[in-house]
Amino acid sequence: MTLHATYDADNIFAKIIRGEMPSVKLYETDAVLAFMDVFPQSEGHCLAIHKTATAINLFDVDGESLAALIAAVQKVGAAVRDGLKPDGVRIAQFNGAPAGQTVYHLHFHIIPVYDGRALGGHAGGSPADAALLEKTAEKIRSAL
Ligand code: 5GP
Repeated sequence: MTLHATYDADNIFAKIIRGEMPSVKLYETDAVLAFMDVFPQSEGHCLAIHKTATAINLFDVDGESLAALIAAVQKVGAAVRDGLKPDGVRIAQFNGAPAGQTVYHLHFHIIPVYDGRALGGHAGGSPADAALLEKTAEKIRSAL
C-alpha cells in the first residue's frame, strides 16, 4: 500500500469502529477509540484511532482530528504508565507498507517496555490470550 492509496471503509479498524468486529476497548469518545492490540508486542500494547476521520496515514488527517487523536494517545499512554508500571512507553506510528504499516486506518501504537523483556515482533505471531488481554485492559482502564 502506497502513501497515496484510497481509504478502504472495510479495513479491520473501520469494522471495529462500526462494531462489526470485536475489540477489547479501553477508552472511547465520539471522536476516538483506544483498544488492545490482539498481537501485542508487550503486555499492554494498545492502539488509538480516530473514529470518523477516514485517514490512512498521518499525512491524510485533518489537524483537528489529529489533535483529538494525539490527546487520546497521551491520556491512554499515561494510563498504561500508571496501570502497568512499565519502565518505558514507546509511541509508534507507521505510514505505508514499506514503513511497516499493515492496517490502513491511521493509528498510534502505545507499547509499554519492561526492563529485561524483549519486545515481540510487529503485527505478527499468535493472538494474545483473550482472558489475559482483558485482565491487562482492566488495569489500564482503572488508571484512566
Ligand atoms: P500497523 O502494522 O498498521 O502499524 O499496526 C496494526 C496493528 O494492528 C498491529 O500491531 C496488529 O497487531 C494489530 N491488529 C491487526 N489486526 C487486528 C485486529 O483484528 N484487532 C486488533 N485489536 N488489533 C489488530
